Amino acid sequence: MNTESSVRVRIAPSPTGNIHVGLARTALFNELFARKHAGAFIIRIEDTDKKRSKPEYEQAITEGLKWIGLTWQEGPDIGGEYGPYRQSERTRLYKEVLLKLVESGAAYICYCAPKEKGGGETHTCDCSVAPGDINTAKKYVIRLRVEPQKISFTDIIRGEVSVHTDSFGGDFVIARSVDDPLFHLAVVVDDALMNITHVIRGEDHLHNTIKHILLQRACGYSQPQYAHLPLLLDEQRRKLSKRAGETNLLAYRDMGYLPQAMLNYLALLGWAPKDNQEIFSHEELVQTFSLGDVQKSGAIFSIEKLKSINKHYIRQLSPAELFKQSKPFLEQQNIDISDEQHITAALVTEQERVTTLAELPEVVMFFLPGWEADYSPEMLVWKKSTPARTTELLAMLKDQLQDISADQYSADGLQDTLLAWIDTENLGRGDTLWPMRVALTGREKSPGPFEVAGVLGKEETLRRVTIAQEKITHANIS
Ligand code: GLU
Repeated sequence: MNTESSVRVRIAPSPTGNIHVGLARTALFNELFARKHAGAFIIRIEDTDKKRSKPEYEQAITEGLKWIGLTWQEGPDIGGEYGPYRQSERTRLYKEVLLKLVESGAAYICYCAPKEKGGGETHTCDCSVAPGDINTAKKYVIRLRVEPQKISFTDIIRGEVSVHTDSFGGDFVIARSVDDPLFHLAVVVDDALMNITHVIRGEDHLHNTIKHILLQRACGYSQPQYAHLPLLLDEQRRKLSKRAGETNLLAYRDMGYLPQAMLNYLALLGWAPKDNQEIFSHEELVQTFSLGDVQKSGAIFSIEKLKSINKHYIRQLSPAELFKQSKPFLEQQNIDISDEQHITAALVTEQERVTTLAELPEVVMFFLPGWEADYSPEMLVWKKSTPARTTELLAMLKDQLQDISADQYSADGLQDTLLAWIDTENLGRGDTLWPMRVALTGREKSPGPFEVAGVLGKEETLRRVTIAQEKITHANIS
């Protein structure tokens, strides 16, 4: 059998909160690795913390990963040959292993109060009880017997890692009872029974791996290969937390980031190809990504970088895609999008400038039939001009606009004709184009007047210039 095709990797998230961008990055690296080696990517839900685990968080995990375009071959939503894929549905399997470990003496029942946290001193006691003799009325834990020794393994990213068992206090707790396994036991059993070949997870688990190797040896399981990914840091190089910025992947969707931009950005969090290319499609990532190129040091989550990548992808959208992606944001602002052609033309005028899709509704507003000219007349006067001159120029402009046939109302057509006219008559571009833009949009910042007029068409453009003339005539500006 081709060994490449047997690659099996997984993520094992706990559904106890929103889908963190760090989890999305880990999922992506796993997915890319699996696809590159024609293997399987699996989602397994660690929901043993009954109080904190919630179905809606599990739903957010799969929704978030689908949003950025990841696919998996096995998981709680689609099943698979190695299921079930929720730890809460696998307690029977853990119990069997726990009983075997206690039976063989590799683990033992211990009535001492657990003192795991903090480590340091080595646990010794003479509680050792056979499974048949467990006094369930008394609170106990199950500990793995650990001979003091140095454990080493080769991490794909970090190279040789060696830790002495004294560093975590020797015999460690693997279950609170035969029916209540802890993370270390459950993860080792699941990885073994699901034939996981590579465990690709966050650096925060580096020390746990030593315990997992000890457990694998005690259970007679083979050891998967490990790759510990660098932590995500904020710009101050602190562990990325909610305090420093948004960590919920789906919040980025709601803020107007494109899924392909988010996927591309996540790939760069700790990984860079040798030639430092930055823009990658999902397919290109599958071809280029390699765990060997993942860095050891923490990866900085930079919102500015994400914005620039998002801007890039917004610019790449076809008009139809731009409309489709913007649709939820426009609808959220109750914008009537029934005239798809007109809305798309309006969106295109700002496509080059916006950083997120959430900026688009505001731009589209002044292209709508219900647009209200609620700007102040003063705004029509360019800073180097006067109200009287503006009044004159608006009148001349209107004549010009009248003379241009309706089929010439495109950004390019209007630009050629009007600039030639302004320059020949020596009217001054700022003097003329500023009032034209304000007349058409009512804003100090907007797309250029030719683009706007091109989308509005002749009739609406003239109507808006007339409104501007009336405003300035009736205003008492000195
Ligand atoms: N539930 C653990 C986490 O989310 C899984 C660790 C692992 O991948 O083994 O960090």
